[in-house]
Amino acid sequence: MTNLLPEMAQIWQQTLKWQPTDEQQTQFQQLHELILEGNRQLNLTRITEPQEFWEKHLWDSLRGIIPQQQFISSLVAGASVVDIGTGAGFPGVPIAIVAPNSTITLLDSTRKKINFLEQVVSELALANVKTLVGRAEEIGQQTQHRQKYDLALIRAVGNVSACAEYTLPLLKQGGLAIIYRGTWTEAETITLSNAVQQLGGEVELIQQFTTPLTNSVRHCLYLRKIRNTPTKFPRTVGIPTQKPL
Ligand code: SAH
Repeated sequence: MTNLLPEMAQIWQQTLKWQPTDEQQTQFQQLHELILEGNRQLNLTRITEPQEFWEKHLWDSLRGIIPQQQFISSLVAGASVVDIGTGAGFPGVPIAIVAPNSTITLLDSTRKKINFLEQVVSELALANVKTLVGRAEEIGQQTQHRQKYDLALIRAVGNVSACAEYTLPLLKQGGLAIIYRGTWTEAETITLSNAVQQLGGEVELIQQFTTPLTNSVRHCLYLRKIRNTPTKFPRTVGIPTQKPL
């Protein structure tokens, strides 16, 4: 059973003051197995070894939301959440597993990845997940999605200004974007603040932390939507990454 995920009950407890139920642990295990299988046909993720998968996919996904009490209560109360550029389902799928009362929309521009995720959703019996194929630039201009979400998540998708331009248009006023990053500098905070201001948001919090097994540095950027986003954002496909705000 080399593919058995570690339980890490103590580390969950120490770092996030939370532990998965047996059912959630089983779903984490199933997710890992489905990704190993899916990787044979699709380039889903390089992070497959059990400990590394636990730390860089499961723990990292949940670290962005669990310590934030006020975000948790909105998740429990049934928030609508969008995960932009979800890839193999991170951070959206682990969050869907731990927050069954929220509705998570997994968005990716690659049809094959969304097909894979539809299989995951069905095998894990996740009743609270929707899937969506499309580019964030287009989805952000559609009335059925624009300003409709309480929480927008984005990890490992392009430069930080593009992440802000993808997330903020999708949020309701008062909603929150969480951008997952590795390293972060003060200079980037200035660029980000300028972009966020144009998009109708403000930088609420920047948190640095280290991952519990390898002590890798991570940052989560929390952006609050405080005004309507001007209709010219998001700009057309490709522009947010080519001409970052
Ligand atoms: N969030 C995942 C995957 C990151 S890889 C993780 O952290 O593991 C980036 C993913 O974003 C890819 O699957 C790619 O197809 C998707 N993507 C890139 N640009 C996008 C866009 N403009 N709109 C929607 N999806 C996008």
